[in-house]
Amino acid sequence: MRATRYLIVGGGLAADAACTGIREVDPGGRITVVSDEAHPPYARPPLSKALWTGKEESTIWRATEQHGAELQLGRRVAALDLDARRATDDRGETYSYERLLLATGGRPRQLPFGGDEVIYYRTLDDYRRLRALASANARFVVIGGGFIGSEIAAALETNGHPVTMVFPEPGIGARVLPAELSAFVTDYYRAHDVEVLTGASVTAIERAAGKVRVETGDGRVLESDAVVAGLGIAPRTELAEAAGLVVSDGIVVATAAASTVATTSSPPATSPDSPPLRSEGRCESSTRTTRRPTGGSWARTWPGRTRRTTICRSSTPTSSTSATRRSESSTADCAPSPTGPTSATPAPSTTSTTTAHRGACCCGTSSDRSTQRAT
Ligand SMILES: Cc1cc2nc3c(=O)[nH]c(=O)nc-3n(C[C@H](O)[C@H](O)[C@H](O)COP(=O)(O)OP(=O)(O)OC[C@H]3O[C@@H](n4cnc5c(N)ncnc54)[C@H](O)[C@@H]3O)c2cc1C
Repeated sequence: MRATRYLIVGGGLAADAACTGIREVDPGGRITVVSDEAHPPYARPPLSKALWTGKEESTIWRATEQHGAELQLGRRVAALDLDARRATDDRGETYSYERLLLATGGRPRQLPFGGDEVIYYRTLDDYRRLRALASANARFVVIGGGFIGSEIAAALETNGHPVTMVFPEPGIGARVLPAELSAFVTDYYRAHDVEVLTGASVTAIERAAGKVRVETGDGRVLESDAVVAGLGIAPRTELAEAAGLVVSDGIVVATAAASTVATTSSPPATSPDSPPLRSEGRCESSTRTTRRPTGGSWARTWPGRTRRTTICRSSTPTSSTSATRRSESSTADCAPSPTGPTSATPAPSTTSTTTAHRGACCCGTSSDRSTQRAT
């Protein structure tokens, strides 16, 4: 059994930000991060942008270990015993903790067909796989007209590959952009030789004669060397749910991101000055307003009343797309635009976390780099 003061389940950007936040208030407490990815925490935004415009892969690492965090990689936390304050991973290793953070993020929504022929783009491994496929003359179909789809289409086109985009909406980014802006972006892509098929649903994907065939509802058959999809994500709540936490399209948390055990009423049965559990909300492709915790540091006391926040959802796999807004951006992370220096993805947004209708924030510690996604 490993004993740790802070146990963080998940090894994404939220986990990394939490380590930073912890160190601001506790320089020496033992931190253990358990992630089912084989890699230490890294920035995902460059996977669809900077790495396609010349940045080295080595630039994406978050250096979480520099906070003294112990990384347990390639391990999935399979069970939580909240009463005993103990977690068990899929190899049978147990972890006892004083404070627990669930930063389990989301997994890409998938089509019910096509299997491994489709890259549901999210991870470094997905990037490496797509890079390997992006050999000379390779042709791609990109399913989804949200941020991931449009960024990947731009990245591939910028690197000289013929790309066809397919999605059911009337234009790129139509779920988040005003109609005129969506039309402008769609025209912009077309002007840069990206074939954009709007109002089209994918109905079948299969491999035949060395090519991947994508069929659409209106009877088209698109032949490509590889298919990439950006269809939004679903929050990974199964661990929280199995542990008895309140889950509703995401882990329901209070303003300081503290979760509630399903059988207790508000306020939860945690001590006001020692909340043992935190949940990092994953809020990509949300259609509900969520609230970023103010000063959600581990050292803060329980806020006194609960509030339903951090609810993440998306619509059906075949029609939803993911969209991203940056509230803190760097030029290095800017999306490559189709054959041009100007990003064709929507401009940064500083949507209010309390009033936005379609904005959603990643709940994090006070030091978290604020990221927002919306559909
Ligand atoms: C290609 C791409 C480009 C993006 N670009 C932008 C952008 O420009 N701007 C922006 O604001 N956002 C962008 N995003 C979104 C941003 O990267 C995410 O909001 C952010 O990565 C979410 O971090 P997270 O830690 O909450 O969740 P995740 O990144 O989903 O990380 C969760 C981690 O927890 C692990 N995990 C889950 N369950 C368990 C378990 N039981 N045990 C162990 N480990 C577990 C997962 O494997 C994963 O490593 C982009 C995302 C992608 C994929």
